[in-house]
Amino acid sequence: MISVSFLGIKDHLKERLHQLEKMDISYFHCDIMDGKFVSEKTWSFEELKFLKEIKKPLDVHLMVEDIETYVESFSKLKPQFMTFHVEATSNAEEIIKKIHSYGCKAGISIKPGTPISKILPYLKEVDLVLVMSVEPGRGGQAFLPNSIEKIKELKKLQKNYHYLIEVDGGINDQTILECKKSGADIFVVGSFITNHSDYEKQIVKLKNK
Ligand code: ZN
Repeated sequence: MISVSFLGIKDHLKERLHQLEKMDISYFHCDIMDGKFVSEKTWSFEELKFLKEIKKPLDVHLMVEDIETYVESFSKLKPQFMTFHVEATSNAEEIIKKIHSYGCKAGISIKPGTPISKILPYLKEVDLVLVMSVEPGRGGQAFLPNSIEKIKELKKLQKNYHYLIEVDGGINDQTILECKKSGADIFVVGSFITNHSDYEKQIVKLKNK
């Protein structure tokens, strides 16, 4: 399944998303950065309120320190998934409960330097594990190969749990191959699609792999 990150779309975001939602993709991936957990800052909730009109399910990726406040505001968009970073909290269990209390599925994410062992205690509660295959903070970076080992490890563990495996960062028509082989379920794709004028052509390239 493809989840399109629109981080790289600078103009006419609403129009572009309406164009993309007609295409063969499964989710829109909203990269939310607060300028604290990562140095970049993206949209506020107010700026993304229009996403309510979008019919594709939303996959919200919170790269923020104050997770609970963001969970509260973004829950108003009724996203399918809300994912937070294990590195940003010592209270992951409570956050997972809070996300579930809004009727959303809960995801947990790890940065490239964080081992799977850090999230083991939460695997039974989460619906999604997001493996960052670049350092979080900006789009357009190159895929880090150590993420493949993490996907394989999560795939082995997956039979005991109910989570999906998502990979985020540097995915293109080449890197998607290894991710598919190692067993990832959802591929976050940004600039490979959004930096081109013909979105559909790029999506077909990914689907044909
Ligand atoms: Zn993301």
